[in-house]
Formats: sequence, structure tokens, C-alpha cells
Amino acid sequence: MSMTNTNNDLHQLSVAELARQLRDKKVSAVETAQHFLGRIRAHETLGTFVDLNEEATLAQAHAADTALAAGHGGALAGVPIAHKDIFVTQDFVTTAGSKMLAGYRSPFDATVVSRLAAAGAVTLGKVSCDEFAMGSANENVAVPALGHPAPAPVRNPWDTSRIPGGSSGGSAAAVAARLAPAASGTDTGGSIRQPASFCGITGIKPTYGRASRYGMIAYASSLDQAGPMARSAEDCALLLSAMCGPDPDRDSTSLDAPAEDFTRTLNDKLDGLRIGIPKEFFGEGLAPDVRAAVDAALKEYEKLGAKLVAISLPRTELSIPVYYIIAPAEASSNLSRFDGVKFGHRAKDYTDLLDMYKKTRAQGFGDEVKRRIMIGTYVLSHGYYDAYYLQAQKIRRMIADDFQQAFQQCDVIAGPVAPTVAWKIGEKADDPVANYLADIFTLPASLAGLPGMSLPAGFGAGNMPVGLQLIGNYLQEGRLLNVAHQLQQATDFHLRTPGGF
Ligand code: GLN
Repeated sequence: MSMTNTNNDLHQLSVAELARQLRDKKVSAVETAQHFLGRIRAHETLGTFVDLNEEATLAQAHAADTALAAGHGGALAGVPIAHKDIFVTQDFVTTAGSKMLAGYRSPFDATVVSRLAAAGAVTLGKVSCDEFAMGSANENVAVPALGHPAPAPVRNPWDTSRIPGGSSGGSAAAVAARLAPAASGTDTGGSIRQPASFCGITGIKPTYGRASRYGMIAYASSLDQAGPMARSAEDCALLLSAMCGPDPDRDSTSLDAPAEDFTRTLNDKLDGLRIGIPKEFFGEGLAPDVRAAVDAALKEYEKLGAKLVAISLPRTELSIPVYYIIAPAEASSNLSRFDGVKFGHRAKDYTDLLDMYKKTRAQGFGDEVKRRIMIGTYVLSHGYYDAYYLQAQKIRRMIADDFQQAFQQCDVIAGPVAPTVAWKIGEKADDPVANYLADIFTLPASLAGLPGMSLPAGFGAGNMPVGLQLIGNYLQEGRLLNVAHQLQQATDFHLRTPGGF
């Protein structure tokens, strides 16, 4: 195929623009895939990618070119995408960042992966995440990235001495460094929003049940949701439209809400939009630099015609103990399947079945995963169930009710994503509680099952990106994306590129 475009800046194009150029045959899918694979190799030091399969990627790209030539490529035909290593994939190894699954190959693709492929997206490879998606810093990784001799946290492209956030840190860093135009992520308690914020990109976690959990390795099933991470809200809208939709045969909690074209509402004006500002999100724990960037973004919204409304989410602080009871409880059950029998790691020397289980799990799981299995088993055990798990479930319901109260006064809620900018690698590595506390602003929407997103809102300490969080009511992804898109039409934070990329 002869192409008119010898574009060396393909990585600077948005998903929307790249899709257009592919459709207009200005560039081929194969050429695009090769360009990004080259960049991935050239930037291995970041530690983002954990598996590539160039042959499979190029075969997918070739198929996209054939479809495009015949005039029937999907909305994402030829657009390369990286998948968080928590989605199972036939063509790539799936490890969930764990030794337990080192080298594991799935016999099928996750629904999110196959839906994106059906829209024409080309998989570049798998990107690093915290082990079983448990973490806020990408420091709980047990699988080495490509070109690395040992497991190491992904580096933040804005400052490589800092963490990219977690657990979808590889996804966020890859997009920020222009190693992929977009990536998939998952969010159980903030893992799309927080790394998006820390890496200066845009990410959305849809309403619980919007995207199928089939083939997403389970962490906490009542919270886990997939979503896209890209540079802009417009790009996220394109990807989310392809990812969502009912999957009743394979995910019983998948919502009976039809797939939507989330780009359709991107140009709605914001006149009269009521943005709720929860006072609990602006208390003492919020760093002044983050607050300044968030305040500036809110001022911009006022200029765009929105009204800021003071609201309260009174149980914000309780979301930390509630989440860190419920998520480990579900994890302790979900992770019981890794027993050395069905798949993954099995200890070499053992005396009997019980000894095999014990050794396999002791060797296969990392410290944070073990900590959560122990907490989860404890809060579910006889005598403690009522005191911890049941109480947590009751407060979870109250947190969801608080949001419904708030949405009587406003259309969307806005605030910070995290209390600070991305911290230094190692700074909180030995302090799990410090990591848990940093999740305070993302956990409430997760517990309520509400859609939430993060979009770049400026820069804070160390010239690190700051994200603005938007939370909508159930099934309001289209509105959230539009509200984000309007800010992105008025500001250019989402277009800034970290130096050297
Ligand atoms: N940081 C939170 C945790 O460690 C959230 C992780 C996630 O959303 N997957 O559980």
C-alpha cells in the first residue's frame, strides 16, 4: 500500500484525528502500529509495557487496513491501543502484575478487548499495573517490564523520579509519553482517575455495570469497572462508546443500558449547568497547589456559564474504612481461585494438597495482596462479620444516598482527584495506610457506583499535573464527557506534553 503521509509525529495526533487520517488513507494502520512499536522500544526505561507481540499487532493492523480499503472499518479502525494487564488477551500474556500469573495466556479475550477490536482498534501490547489492581502508586508490581531485569514501578513521564499513580499507572504513563494514543484502564477505587490525574491525561470510569467485567481479572467485583484513558474527553468518548453495552450472558451485573454514542452530546453548552462543590473535598488535607489548580478550573467553568453550588458529602472520610473493608473482603474471595490447581503458578516441592496450596499462594502473591487477603478474611469471619463487613455495607448505602441528596441541588459534582500531585517513587512504599488515605476523593463515587472522570486542570508542586474530578449521576457519562470537553475547548492543559516525549 503506498501512502502519502510520511508523518513522524503520528504520536502527537489525538485518537479522533488519527482515526480521520486512517479513514482518509493519509496513513496506514500498519505504518501507525510500527511507529508506536518503535516508540515503545525507544522508551523502555519508563517501564510501561510488560508484553508485546509485534506479529499479532501487525496482523491486526493489516486487517484494519483491509477493512479501511473496503470502506467498512469501524470507528476506531487502525487506532492503536494499549491494554492494562488486568484484561485477559489471547494474543498477549496476562499477568495482572502478579507472579501468580507469570507467563499466563488466556484462551479468550475480555469483552472490553473484543469490543474495541470489533471497532477496529489495534492492540499494541499490555501495560503494567499494580498486582491484581491493588495499589495507588504502581509500586506493587511483581512482573518485570520489557527491557527490565526485575519488577519496578512505572515512571511518571513528567518526572521520572515520581510514581505515575495506580493501579492503571502503565496505561496513564504510556498515554502521557505518547507511546499509545489511548489505553484501557480499570477503576475499583480510583485506578483510572488517579493515574490520569497524576500523568496529565483524561480518563473516565463509567457507571458500575456499563462496561462488561467479563475477562477483567476480578479484584472487588461490586466495584470493578473498565474505562478508557486518553488525552482528551473527545477521545475518551470515542473509546467509551465502543467499550460499553450490555453483556448479559457473561456478566450478570452488566446493566441493561444500550450502547451509546458518547460523542453525540459533546457540543452542548454549559449555560446554567449547576456544578456541586462538596465542602469535604476542600478541607485541610488538600494540598494548596492542587487546590489552586482546581479552583482555577472551576473559575473557568463559571466563565463558560456554569454556576457553582456548595454541597456536602458528609460521609467522605468514612469512604476510606468502608472501601478498605469491602474491597479486601471481595478480593479475599475472588483470589481464592489462585490455588495452583486451575491456572498460574504452582509451587514445585510440596508434601500434600494443603501444603501445595500454602506454598503456591505464599510464593505467588506479593505483600500487599497477602495483606488484603488477610484483612478480607478477617472482616468476613464469624464474630467480625457484623462488626466490620455489615457495618461497612450499611455506610456504603448511606454514601450512595448522600450523592442522591447532592444531585437534587446540582447536575455534576467537581473537586480534586487526589490530595496531592504524584509523589516520589519510594516515598510511601512502606506505608500502606498513607497510600489508602490518598484515595479519599475517588472512593466515594466508586462505592456509590457512579461515573467519575479526571481531566487535566493545570500544574502543581514540582510542575506536576493536577486533575479535576467530575462525578455524575448514574448513566450520565455523556454529560460528564461534554462538561470535560467544554473545558478542553477553553484550555490547553490536555495538549501539553512532558519534556522529552
Ligand atoms: N488504590 C485503590 C486500591 O488500592 C484503588 C485501586 C483500584 O481502583 N483498582 O484498592
